[in-house]
Amino acid sequence: MNYDCIVLGGGPSGLMAAIGAGEQGARVLLLDKGDKLGRKLAISGGGRCNVTNRRPIEEIIEHIPGNGRFLYSALSIFGNEDIIAFFQKLGIELKEEDHGRMFPVTDKAQSVVDALLTRLKELHVDIKTNCPVKTINYKDGKIDSVVSSSGEVFETASVVIAVGGKSVPHTGSTGDGYAWAKKAGHTITELFPTEVPLTSAEAYIKEKTLQGLALRDVALSVLNPKGKTLATHRMDMIFTHFGISGPAALRCSQFVVKAMKKWHMSEVVMVIDSVPDKKEEPLFQEVWASLKSNSKKSAKTILKGIVPERYLHFLLEKSDIEPSAQGAQIPQESVRELCKMLKGLRFKVNGTLPLEKAFVTGGGVSVKEVEPKTMASKKMEGLYFCGEILDIHGYTGGYNITSALVTGRLAGINAGMSARGQHD
Ligand SMILES: Cc1cc2nc3c(=O)[nH]c(=O)nc-3n(C[C@H](O)[C@H](O)[C@H](O)COP(=O)(O)OP(=O)(O)OC[C@H]3O[C@@H](n4cnc5c(N)ncnc54)[C@H](O)[C@@H]3O)c2cc1C
Repeated sequence: MNYDCIVLGGGPSGLMAAIGAGEQGARVLLLDKGDKLGRKLAISGGGRCNVTNRRPIEEIIEHIPGNGRFLYSALSIFGNEDIIAFFQKLGIELKEEDHGRMFPVTDKAQSVVDALLTRLKELHVDIKTNCPVKTINYKDGKIDSVVSSSGEVFETASVVIAVGGKSVPHTGSTGDGYAWAKKAGHTITELFPTEVPLTSAEAYIKEKTLQGLALRDVALSVLNPKGKTLATHRMDMIFTHFGISGPAALRCSQFVVKAMKKWHMSEVVMVIDSVPDKKEEPLFQEVWASLKSNSKKSAKTILKGIVPERYLHFLLEKSDIEPSAQGAQIPQESVRELCKMLKGLRFKVNGTLPLEKAFVTGGGVSVKEVEPKTMASKKMEGLYFCGEILDIHGYTGGYNITSALVTGRLAGINAGMSARGQHD
């Protein structure tokens, strides 16, 4: 059978594209290599799926540091509020949590996947799972057909490539689409891990001194070789057995990757400000005064609550203060040193976990070669792109699924419309 539109990949972008094309009345086939659709979507947001974010569009774009501007037109056609309304129509209510993050009220990512699958069925979209796509054939500057690994050939007027990036390959995203894009004449910008935990060879990391310690609402910064701040993110973070992770670390990760590349550095300095609401001098005055006015109590008791206990002990030791020392015995220089570290513990990171372990793939199909209003290829007639295969990456917080859903919607609608136009 000939199709108007074949969607390759059943992640959030592909599911949305197939729905978009189906709603145009196109004959649609969705191919996925896995046995289930939406596998990454089903584990997203810790199994709860952070579907989108309720911030204003300008802020959504700011939270997509990898080519967010490219999404300006797309978001004005189908934005975050449209995503919320779209899911409401499918029977999935979303609720808002901190930082504007939107989750299904069910707290189950699978309910989001199921709602999309139900809509595909209503639209009579043909679905073929366990069907890895091998290649796309192009002829005379146009789409010709799609070939599966088992040699099956599917003829079609349009193709939406929605096979994702290279992160977490067990969910199916193994980077297969880049070769098909290249074959159509597209540029693939360099791939890199982003929203990824950072590694460090600091002795206290290697010795696992702080492993498992979470710091809430800290300001974490990345410095350039001259010691100037490249980026600061104020969120939670956690020390792990290999380095640091948690939202603040994930957000800083792309700046570390880019700094290492730009300045050929093997290590990058990061700084943790664990009391970001206070300046160093008033903090020192406060700490000094409370040590003096509780002169008989121990430092660890007096300073309890400034930061988590484990972190406090770690910093006390680093500033040569015995945690059990009495307030009166502690020299002023040591207290100054302690406050300096509370405001800015400097440490070195030496890389990230590999791309496969990153939440998101940076780089991909150059957005310069894609129409921002339709997601159509500028190189090949009938070819469309959406989702993480594009050179677009956002912070964690619902921005990547937003990008996938928005680009998917546009790619599907336009692929369906243009293919139908050719038939009618
Ligand atoms: C653990 C984790 C949690 C996340 N949580 C969130 C979150 O809460 N909010 C958020 O915004 N972002 C989150 N992200 C990022 C987000 O999930 C991805 O950006 C998004 O899934 C990308 O969608 P996609 O449709 O482009 O690709 P994918 O979801 O990767 O889907 C690609 C699909 O293509 C199929 N495929 C691949 N190759 C072939 C082939 N050769 N033939 C046929 N099919 C193929 C795959 O089987 C897969 O089904 C998370 C990522 C991870 C790893």
